[in-house]
Amino acid sequence: MRKLKSFQKFIHSLNYDLFNFNSSRESLPVEPTPSILQVPSPPKEELPSIEELYKLFHKINAVYFENKLPTVRIEYSNRMTNAGSYTPALKLIKISRKYHEIFREDIEDTLKHEMIHILHFYHNAVFKKEAIRIGASLKAKPHPAVRRKPKYLYFCPGCKKEYPRQKRLRMASCGFCSKKGKFDIRFKLKLFKS
Ligand SMILES: [Zn+2]
Ligand SMILES: [Zn+2]
Repeated sequence: MRKLKSFQKFIHSLNYDLFNFNSSRESLPVEPTPSILQVPSPPKEELPSIEELYKLFHKINAVYFENKLPTVRIEYSNRMTNAGSYTPALKLIKISRKYHEIFREDIEDTLKHEMIHILHFYHNAVFKKEAIRIGASLKAKPHPAVRRKPKYLYFCPGCKKEYPRQKRLRMASCGFCSKKGKFDIRFKLKLFKS
């Protein structure tokens, strides 16, 4: 199941059409069963520049909105706990730095979601229709720090990345350190506390 989601995420990064808006928000550890599925390559350290965000904005505007959206301002926010926001009065999309430093792969989804808000302020039925049409999340995603507290906290002995989980993991290794998406005993996730 995890692998499938991870795979869908990977496919999404290549192809707009296969986006699954229910896909998990967390980066996924690798589990040891043999599989042909690939794990997405590790995220780059840096978030996209504002210029890159505008490029993405124009691309999404062309592909999904026939270039009908007015160009708005795009900024990063260092404080915001939600993934993104749109302020109509300022014609301003804000992208949360904190959120995307953890879920870098969500940037496009966040931008799409906020771009729908340029046309539809509320998360109403029309908004939802649009979100499904363009493959964007239906709701603003909160920063993980304000989510339900995980029962288990695992960490990678290599890169020290933390994997908060509601369920126990038995044989899972770090998705960023393990080579080619295969279980790697050197990066087997360790339980921090329970
Ligand atoms: Zn929203
Ligand atoms: Zn690691």
